[in-house]
Amino acid sequence: MTARVIDGKAFALALRDRVGAAVPAFQAATGRVPGLTVVIVGEDAASQVYVRAKGKATEAAGMASVTHRLPADTTQADLLALVTALNADEAVDGILVQLPLPRHIDESAVIDAIDPDKDVDGFHVVNSGRLAAGLPGLVPCTPLGCLMLLEDVLGDLSGLDAVVIGRSNIVGKPMAQLLTAKSCTVTIAHSRTRDLPAVCRRADILVAAVGRAEMIKADWVKPGATVIDVGINRIDADDPGGAGGTKLVGDVDFAGVSAVAGAITPVPGGVGPMTIAVLLRNTLVAAHLRAGLAPPAGL
Ligand code: NDP
Repeated sequence: MTARVIDGKAFALALRDRVGAAVPAFQAATGRVPGLTVVIVGEDAASQVYVRAKGKATEAAGMASVTHRLPADTTQADLLALVTALNADEAVDGILVQLPLPRHIDESAVIDAIDPDKDVDGFHVVNSGRLAAGLPGLVPCTPLGCLMLLEDVLGDLSGLDAVVIGRSNIVGKPMAQLLTAKSCTVTIAHSRTRDLPAVCRRADILVAAVGRAEMIKADWVKPGATVIDVGINRIDADDPGGAGGTKLVGDVDFAGVSAVAGAITPVPGGVGPMTIAVLLRNTLVAAHLRAGLAPPAGL
């Protein structure tokens, strides 16, 4: 079998278009456009790239984008004061504090200072609780993007066996909760799991969110399974005689697993583009809920 390659880039672009298409109706109803404010502290190169991409995507969708760039020695008190001001600003629908923060700042104190109704990353403990309790709320972007891809490929997920490798608060745990809500039978695996290959072989849906390059091999995967690779790992490019350099790979051995799986996301071009698209979606949803409007259907 050769797996269908799931085109996350195309799905994400279509979602971004749907978000952009819904902005004029929100503007007509409220007299303003939805607004996303991103806060970045320090000079981390990867974070700077992500923040620029988020700003550009927000503007491209017709929403208001503001970025606060703070120096690396910003105090926690000053950052918390900014978050408090953004919470009170009516023009701000979504607040995203780019992680990681410098070591002298307590990340969870900052995240939990964000108004949960503006927490478009879905990391606030209130939103984690809402997700766990099956209540409406803002859901972390990456796992929600994975769920959208899975439903696009498989339709109804009810009754399927799902294995999620990874139990972080931002990917693994919310992913497992979203799949549980869709009536999958879910196993969460992690670094202490015994015989991980055997656990993975049970999965109709296998989600890898580990951060270990090409760890999941072909003989870990049930024939026909749908494999979602969240991992982003930079490794040396295997380029004999070439100029060297690096390349991005996922947690899944794409070449090997493609011969066994029914469908698989590539890295890059799979889950990655979904994260920003869902961020825009969450901003639009937050704006509607704050304005007392029903979020547009189909998002
Ligand atoms: P974390 O480091 O927070 O969590 C990694 C998880 O993997 C942990 O639960 C850990 O287990 C588990 N793990 C580590 N080693 C093994 C192993 N050998 N066997 C089984 N499980 C193992 O990572 P994140 O959840 O934040 O991210 C995971 C990956 O997803 C990273 O590569 C990250 O870059 C990527 N990512 C991609 C995004 C995207 O937009 N595409 C967005 C967010 C993340 P334990 O809990 O026992 O330590």
